[in-house]
Order: sequence, then structure tokens, then C-alpha cells
Amino acid sequence: MSRKALIAANWKMNGAKALIDSVSGALAKIQVDAEVLICPPATLLPLFPQTATLALGAQDISAEVSGAYTGQLSAALLKEAGASYALVGHSERRQYQFESDELIAAKVKAAIAAGLTPVLCIGESLTERQQEKTQQVIAKQLAAVYASHPKLLLKSVIAYEPIWAIGTGESATPEQAQQTHAFIRNTLASYDKDAAQQVRILYGGSVNAENCAALFTQPDIDGALVGGASLKPEEFAQICLSI
Ligand code: PEP
Repeated sequence: MSRKALIAANWKMNGAKALIDSVSGALAKIQVDAEVLICPPATLLPLFPQTATLALGAQDISAEVSGAYTGQLSAALLKEAGASYALVGHSERRQYQFESDELIAAKVKAAIAAGLTPVLCIGESLTERQQEKTQQVIAKQLAAVYASHPKLLLKSVIAYEPIWAIGTGESATPEQAQQTHAFIRNTLASYDKDAAQQVRILYGGSVNAENCAALFTQPDIDGALVGGASLKPEEFAQICLSI
């Protein structure tokens, strides 16, 4: 197994030029055995210094290529602004922008068509977990994208983000996360056995400098998608060092 670990930061609607400087400065001081990705607000993308050691991503993309879609940003525009990745289907977009699995599948396709790597975010709500529907929910979210287009898998990253763990300070335990990551990999294997072994599956949900090392020991956890802690330069650098 030769999956390169990936530590991704989701700044959400936070950050400014000063944060670019402090995060870049903290990362420049360390040697990291993983790919590091920052997804800032799109307006900040062109302000990052260009370095071979830091990848940039968008937090969302349009499913459309161009045209009369006021306020939307196409994958090509985001690529031109510096992105090589794009988060797709983050739970906050599923919740606040009512994004459907079908729209999310179209966004994954649009990202790949433009040469961006989609980071497909999936995960269950607290109620769904309590009703023991986690696997059912995740299987449906994956099927919507990959069942009829298994070739997209090799060009994707998956982020498992249980909604109950996002921004709550309550991370999944390493065992809980591993159990779901293994389920995700098995499900992906039903679409493409070889690709499933190569796809990176990130864990997201209240990852911090204290809990990350234990999560990273799990065999199917290939890195993290970090929200709140990614806004603290020293803590984010510590998470990158822990992989
Ligand atoms: C996220 O929003 O993708 C996330 C994982 O946030 P947090 O780390 O703050 O839970």
C-alpha cells in the first residue's frame, strides 16, 4: 500500500492575508511526510506564495462550465486562481445550500474534467448514527457519484466527516473512524477493486493536535480534513508533523 498521506485545511469563511503569512511561515519551518493542502476562501487563493510543498484547493465549485450563473465559480476559474483540489459536498453546503447527491456528483465530474482533484465529503448526522444508519447513508452518498462512473474514483479523494463531529469538539474515536473508513474502502472496492486501494480516505471532525496521532495510526485513515484547528498555524503544523 503506497498511499501518500494528505493533511487538508478547510478555512471555511475565515482567514485573511495575515493568516496566509502565519500559516505559510509555520509550515516553512517543518519537514512534513505528507501532502499539505489549504482550502481558503476563494478570494485568497491568488495571494498564497507559490511553493511546491503546499497545494491549494477551493471549498466548492460550480457544476457548470461557464455562463449565466451569478456568483458561482467554475473549476477552470478556480484552477486559474491557484487551486489544484476542490472540496465537494461538504456537509455545510449539503445543509445550508441544500446540495443534493446528484448535484454533488455533477460537481465531482466538473472538477475532474477541469483537472482538479475533488475531495468528496461524506458522513452521517447524529440522528442517523443513533438509528444505526451510518453505513446506509454513506453507501448512498458514494453510490450517487461512483456507481455509474467508477473511473472517477482514481482521481478522487474521499473525506469521511461525521456531521456530529464537525466543529463540536467531539471527534470520532480512532476505532469508530477506522470502522467507517474500512466500510468506505470496501464499498469503493465494489466499484473498482484496485482504485479502492489507492484512494485516500481522510477523516474530518474536530481533529486537533491532541487527537490526530491516534487517528493516524489506523490503517484506512490516510490523513485529515481539519477545520477549526487549521486556523491556528502552530497547531496545524503540529498536525502535519503527526502523520
Ligand atoms: C470541517 O468543517 O471540514 C471540519 C472538519 O471542521 P472541524 O475540524 O472544525 O470539526
